[in-house]
Order: sequence, then C-alpha cells, then structure tokens
Amino acid sequence: SMASPALLMRVVASAYSVAERAATIVRNVMSAGDLGIVEKAGPNDLQTKADRLVQMSICASLARKFPKVTIIGEEELPTHDVTEDLIEDGHCEEILKKPCPAQYTGIKEEELVIWVDPLDGTKEYTEGLLDHVTVLIGIAYGGKAIAGVINQPYYNYEAGPNAVLGRTIWGVLGIGAFGFQLTEAPAGKHIVITTRSHSNALVNECITALNPDAVIRVGGAGNKVVQLIEGKASAYVFASPGCKKWDTCAPEAILHAVGGKITDIRGNPFQYNKEVKHMNSAGVLATLRNYDYYASRIPNTVKESLVP
Ligand code: AMP
Ligand code: MG
Ligand code: MG
Repeated sequence: SMASPALLMRVVASAYSVAERAATIVRNVMSAGDLGIVEKAGPNDLQTKADRLVQMSICASLARKFPKVTIIGEEELPTHDVTEDLIEDGHCEEILKKPCPAQYTGIKEEELVIWVDPLDGTKEYTEGLLDHVTVLIGIAYGGKAIAGVINQPYYNYEAGPNAVLGRTIWGVLGIGAFGFQLTEAPAGKHIVITTRSHSNALVNECITALNPDAVIRVGGAGNKVVQLIEGKASAYVFASPGCKKWDTCAPEAILHAVGGKITDIRGNPFQYNKEVKHMNSAGVLATLRNYDYYASRIPNTVKESLVP
C-alpha cells in the first residue's frame, strides 16, 4: 500500500486550508464593519477582532491535528475554549501528492515550530489598504524556516465587486513555491520596498545610502516578500527593530524555496527555534536576486546602530 505522506507535507497541506479559512474570517470581520481595534504597544501597534479570531482559528486548528508541534502566534490570547466554528480540518490534496524532500521525511511533531502571524499589515487593514494584508504560517525545523504559507485575503480586489478574492502561496525548501508566477524585477533597476507605517531616521538613512531608482512604501512583511517574488521590487530593506519572527518565517521559507535570500541588515540569518527572541532587532534585508549588491552597500554606521 502507499506509505502515508510525511508529517511535514501533512502540516503544510493543513496550513494551506487553515490559511484559507483565516482569509474568510479576515474578509468577514471587515464586511461586518466592527473591527474592535485595540492598541498594543501604541497607535502603530494594533490588534483587531480579525487578528484575534484568526489567531484562535489557526492555532486551535493546527494544535488539534498536530498536538505535539510548538505553535507560536503573535497575539497573546487563550488557546482553550475556541468555538467549533473556528476549527478548520481540511487540507490541500495537491500538496499531499508532492514527495517530501529526503532530509525532512523523518521529522517528528515535537521537532517542528510553527510561527503564526494571523494578520500581517494590521495598521493598513484598519486604514482600508486591504491588499497589503497577509496571513502568515511559517514552519521551522532545526531553527530554520523550511516551509510556509502566505494567504492574501484581498488579492484581486481591484478587479471589481465580482472578482474572486484571495490567493494562497505555499512553499517548501527543496520543492519550490507555488500559487503565483515567479517574476524577475526590471533588470538594472534598484527598486527598494520598505515600511509604510514604521519609518524612522535610520530606516530612511539606509534607503538613501542605496541610491535606489524607486522606493515603494507598503505595509506588511508578507506583502513585501510577495512583491519581491513577483518582480515588483528588487530589495526589501528595513533598518529598524519592529519586525518579529512570525513576520519573517513564512516569507523566508517561500523566498528561499525560489532561490532568494533574507537576513537581518547585518547579514545574519534568522533563527526560528522555539526559545529564540521574537524581535528581529537588527532589521530585515531580503532579495530574490543580487543580495550581495544590496548587502555590500548598507552603511557600517547603519549596521552598528542595530544590535541583533
Ligand atoms: P511594516 O513593514 O511596517 O508593515 O512592518 C512589518 C511587520 O513588522 C508588521 O507586522 C509590523 O506590525 C511589524 N513592525 C515593524 N515595525 C514595527 C514597530 N515599530 N512596532 C510594531 N510593529 C512593527
Ligand atoms: Mg506582522
Ligand atoms: Mg499581525
């Protein structure tokens, strides 16, 4: 008989369906009109009813299927007493059909860490910039981001009221990434993409030093990495603390699965073991191509201002 699919592939296949359910919740909360906004650290660090419901949905759904996996979500919420209507138990058959890379076939539940950003780009969500929003489920093993799912609940929203909204991008190291069209950024142009709502003097100093042809300011770490793999921007540059492990885990796995590279501003790789500090204190530098071009042009003064 057929061997049952490897744990990693079952986790990714479930995360795909869980992220689609999450996207439905994100859209439903917005259409219902009551966002229930709560300030966390301040006015640029918000939580809405969608962040809360989606975190409960994702964490409870994955914990029920994979009880020994460590799941770390952005929002501080109880994980018990989640109502049944938030539980998603489906999975993506297409993902289960892909063979698991040999180096991952022996992974056990207790060796996986799942990093969940239930809604990345919350500030923009509250301002109606809906295409900046993503749902991020990153899967780590041995401290490395090895698989990820990025759902864009409002993908296609500019196509009008009858358009089918949303899409799900997924990837695994050694398999590749799917659900989008890999596109190169314009050759010879340096298009930097960065934060819209968390800028500061250092963020801007770093971008100026790169002398880019254009700067795109949009919300969301997930959104910015999607722009890299679709050729809209050539480098994601954020010389500041603020971004956390749940922001980078899923985007990192997908970017690395297609040959890109993400590190902190000083060139250090991110670690995703369960004991790691959540904050990416030394910022973010990510590219699909030409990582070394950008890394070599980050000023030492900027690097020295950011302590990992
Ligand atoms: P941004 O590019 O500003 O959308 O940031 C990417 C991710 O990092 C989002 O989840 C932000 O909420 C988070 N982030 C970045 N900077 C900060 C900050 N100063 N305070 C709180 N969250 C931040
Ligand atoms: Mg986020
Ligand atoms: Mg979030």
